[in-house]
Amino acid sequence: MVTPLLLADRLAHVRAQIDTAAHAAARDPAEITLVAVSKFHPATSVQEAIQAGQRVFGENRVQEAAAKFPALRATHPDIRLHLIGGLQTNKARDAVRLADMIESLDRPALSDALAKAADMEGRMPDLLIEVNTGDEPQKFGVPREQADAFIRASRARFGDRLKGLMCIPPAEQNPVPHFQLLRSMAQVHGLSVLSMGMSADYPQAIAQGATLVRVGTAIFGPRPATA
Ligand SMILES: *Cc1c(COP(=O)(O)O)cnc(C)c1O
Repeated sequence: MVTPLLLADRLAHVRAQIDTAAHAAARDPAEITLVAVSKFHPATSVQEAIQAGQRVFGENRVQEAAAKFPALRATHPDIRLHLIGGLQTNKARDAVRLADMIESLDRPALSDALAKAADMEGRMPDLLIEVNTGDEPQKFGVPREQADAFIRASRARFGDRLKGLMCIPPAEQNPVPHFQLLRSMAQVHGLSVLSMGMSADYPQAIAQGATLVRVGTAIFGPRPATA
């Protein structure tokens, strides 16, 4: 199909695809939250998406989120920000201040930093644990074999703030087995949120139980070359 030219049309198309995928899987589309990934795109594009009814956004760098979102929130207090990128411990305090959800908890040192930041800020975002389902050495995410122990420890530490799991399957592989692995891990631990699926594969992720899909390019178009 031809990609629509206007952001509002691309967004409507993605929403329609989500509905179709949900119905095909006998799921209620209302169970699925679209996270519009606005990284590298200007605040004006985020504003366009807000005008078109989008409310949940994803950014992968704390500094960029800090530059864009406080002003957007001032005019649109109901938008939600998810931080979806690998997080350095020295950014934990800004992350806790800015985010409604951090999707990339992946190691004990980051848990420590987030807990300390939460004490200082007097708030704690919702959390997802990122699992490196492909065990790729260069990637963020807790390695598969450490995931169970890390999920248990995080549950004990953060209680209900820990909502679920996130994964980014290896780019060159069929994502479906990765989605299935993430779903089964979440089931074992009684976690309800499953963040999986990006522009290339969100319908497949929905078929496998995704409750959050993180879609950038299909909404905002290609990212500027500085990416
Ligand atoms: C950039 C990014 C996305 C969105 O990717 P698209 O292919 O542009 O949809 C999703 N998740 C994470 C973690 C990202 O960094």
